[in-house]
Amino acid sequence: MKNRVFIGIGSNVGDRIKNCIDGIKAIARDRRACIRSASSFYLTSPVSEITQEDFVNCAISIDWDDTAFELLHLLNGIEAGMGRMRSIKDGPRIIDLDILLFGDAVIDEASLTVPHPELHRRKFAIVPCIEIEEGIVHPSYNKPLKEFLPHINDSQKIVLLKDRKEVPDFN
Ligand code: ADP
Ligand code: MG
Repeated sequence: MKNRVFIGIGSNVGDRIKNCIDGIKAIARDRRACIRSASSFYLTSPVSEITQEDFVNCAISIDWDDTAFELLHLLNGIEAGMGRMRSIKDGPRIIDLDILLFGDAVIDEASLTVPHPELHRRKFAIVPCIEIEEGIVHPSYNKPLKEFLPHINDSQKIVLLKDRKEVPDFN
């Protein structure tokens, strides 16, 4: 059964836009994934306490024809293949691929939490998702995602970097 999934993509090491694009292309190469839409790319301030470069963040929606755990496995494999190291928690990363929403599934397992536990607290995750689907609902709260935005601290900077009209077609 196919599920509509939102994936958050981020990079703050090296050629950040290219890393995000490469990550999306790697997802598109898997035959279980069909990319439906991509957001604009944004420059965002890190939420971590560790001093590091700003992030480039975006999101995609895909139709995914397998389980959420298989998708996590694919994403972790792509991260590793692109040279992601998990040395410092919340530290700099070449690529970060997070399952933000998996249809209206709510999953709470040791290896996987869906919706992503920080989704409703992070502007850089919410803004790209609602750009793709304005009315998208957070299934744990049964509330439109955009309604969380006014509650987020203004210190989270997010600036448009590359409009979605200029983002390549990934399929
Ligand atoms: P973060 O993205 O929170 O900074 P990491 O990318 O280092 O952290 O992910 C650490 C672990 O989080 C992954 O190995 C994965 O098992 C787990 N995880 C739990 N829920 C999710 C999710 N929704 N999307 C991606 N990873 C998740
Ligand atoms: Mg992650």
